[in-house]
Amino acid sequence: MVKKHFKKTKYDVLVIGGGPSGLIASGRAAENGRSVVLLEKNNILGKKLLISGGGRCNITNNKHDARILVESYREKPAELFSLFYRFNVQDTLDFFLKRGLDTKLEAEDRLFPITEKALSVQEVLIEYAKKEGVQINLNSEVVTIGYSESKKEFTVQTQTVEYISESLIISTGGLSRPDTGSTGDGFSWAQSLGHTVNEDSSALVPVALKGQWFKELSGTTLEYVEIGIWQKNKKLHKSKGRVLLTHFGMTGPTIINMSSKIADALKNGPVELSIDFLPSVSEPDLKEQLTEVIELHRNKEIASLLKGYFSKKMIPLFLKEIGINHKTPGHSITKENRKSILRALKGLKFAVKGLLGKDKAIISGGGVKIKEIDFKTMESRIIPKLYIVGDMLDINRPSGGYSLQLCWSTGYVAGDNA
Ligand SMILES: Cc1cc2nc3c(=O)[nH]c(=O)nc-3n(C[C@H](O)[C@H](O)[C@H](O)COP(=O)(O)OP(=O)(O)OC[C@H]3O[C@@H](n4cnc5c(N)ncnc54)[C@H](O)[C@@H]3O)c2cc1C
Repeated sequence: MVKKHFKKTKYDVLVIGGGPSGLIASGRAAENGRSVVLLEKNNILGKKLLISGGGRCNITNNKHDARILVESYREKPAELFSLFYRFNVQDTLDFFLKRGLDTKLEAEDRLFPITEKALSVQEVLIEYAKKEGVQINLNSEVVTIGYSESKKEFTVQTQTVEYISESLIISTGGLSRPDTGSTGDGFSWAQSLGHTVNEDSSALVPVALKGQWFKELSGTTLEYVEIGIWQKNKKLHKSKGRVLLTHFGMTGPTIINMSSKIADALKNGPVELSIDFLPSVSEPDLKEQLTEVIELHRNKEIASLLKGYFSKKMIPLFLKEIGINHKTPGHSITKENRKSILRALKGLKFAVKGLLGKDKAIISGGGVKIKEIDFKTMESRIIPKLYIVGDMLDINRPSGGYSLQLCWSTGYVAGDNA
């Protein structure tokens, strides 16, 4: 067998994966005077970051009190206190503001860059890493990693280069959206180095529905609705917020955060989702409003009478769904028609076809067991000078900027200590 001859290079710190956590980690390590190389297999950095928050990037969540912030992570891991004590939401905001990027607050305490562009976030991170002197190597897919206990160093190989480093930061992400480069490579390396990788238990995924209605409305956002999960005519759960209709069904923060409950219900049989289009108006009030509008404008088409409730595009499709011609004048709307409009406004139902695969998830659950990491430094408790950050970690979190906050905190703290 012909032995491969690698070009050899040595650095203090080697970072694998140029997503948000790897970028901030490499920049911070270099800022501390370490020689740092960042290896990214794509030809660009932060590919997933660029599609985050629908291209607008929900940077973090405006919860400055660590106790309240930790409460938002499903299992409320105590480890996060150590982490947020070292780098918290305010530190995130300061980090970006110091580099010229302010943020804006939106519903549910979500913070977005003022430019509303994920690209601005990516640019700040790349500039940070470059300015601090990180050697960024694109198109550099790591194929193997090893650790020598005697030499206390890591060996990392791409197809052509062998790198040696004193510290290693793995930031290769989870398993969601493999098209962005996150193919879970880091998990097998972590396992080979002795870490436990927990299985995915609760991916946050969009929901596929039966029927046509949403297909024609693909791209429409319902700004504030209440979604109900139904099984055998019983409402199991409800949640209010923003929903995005797509060609396959529904997505958006409210749906994504309900997906594990929908998955649980599906184990017991068919599930329906209901949409209450006007959650802040009670049914009796809506009944009164609707009756009054119809009585007052008896010669107008029902479609124009519903203008206050829906977008123009939605009205005929909504009426079609409940079997009413949108051109029907108010005086021909029967009591039964009125009842079905009211029922549909307060709870139009759709049968669930299933959940989209993990590859379409915002966050794939599972990852490296957090008990095996010291959250004061993000160093492995198994291999010294090995750091594991970002989506690689098994931390169950909802949508709302909580994932990226983990990337900023774990990345920065790892970079600080590597
Ligand atoms: C559609 C979508 C929208 C989202 N929106 C938000 C949001 O608005 N707010 C929020 O907080 N979170 C959001 N998230 C989650 C967020 O994007 C992730 O938590 C975050 O990107 C994780 O960062 P990371 O650095 O850990 O990993 P990743 O961003 O996954 O980056 C890992 C990098 O490692 C590289 N890599 C992998 N294997 C190798 C290898 N063998 N060699 C070299 N490089 C390798 C990959 O190419 C990739 O660039 C969203 C996710 C998705 C999919």
